[in-house]
Amino acid sequence: MFHCERCGIRFSTGALSGGTSCPRCKARDGVSVQLTWEPLLAARTAAALAEARPRAARVTVAHGS
Ligand SMILES: [Zn+2]
Repeated sequence: MFHCERCGIRFSTGALSGGTSCPRCKARDGVSVQLTWEPLLAARTAAALAEARPRAARVTVAHGS
């Protein structure tokens, strides 16, 4: 699945007739926009989220002896 960050449209790999530029942006505005491969985008987002999240202090549960 490809995703255009400019117009937000999504394409399945099979819907693209060669190349990885957004046909919608090309047709409408005459610009070539590089499409983002979605699993890559998801991985990037996950990495950014993990980075932003404050590291939770590990709580040690001490069982009474
Ligand atoms: Zn587009």
